[in-house]
Amino acid sequence: MIEMTTGKGLSIVRLACDVCHEPITDVGMAMVRWRRETEDYTTDLVYCHKGKCDKTLNRQHEDDPWWELRHFLARLVFNCGMRCEDIIRAMDDVEELQKLG
Ligand SMILES: [Zn+2]
Repeated sequence: MIEMTTGKGLSIVRLACDVCHEPITDVGMAMVRWRRETEDYTTDLVYCHKGKCDKTLNRQHEDDPWWELRHFLARLVFNCGMRCEDIIRAMDDVEELQKLG
């Protein structure tokens, strides 16, 4: 789940594991799963850590498709119209904003 935490003048957005509810901080060690339906469907997504959290989830959804989180995020920003130069500019903006506190 995507969460927004605010306090002390700061707003922090993060992606939390839908299984253990801890923040996902290593994009290579997390994944996105969704329930396989018949063709032409829209469905909810489940974000989770690889390993223990995925295995817990996998007992119920063994055949569900999944993507590694980094590939999912790349597809998401691509489909939102961002390209590499846009991402670099946005990352620079975020870095400057975080310096301001
Ligand atoms: Zn987890």
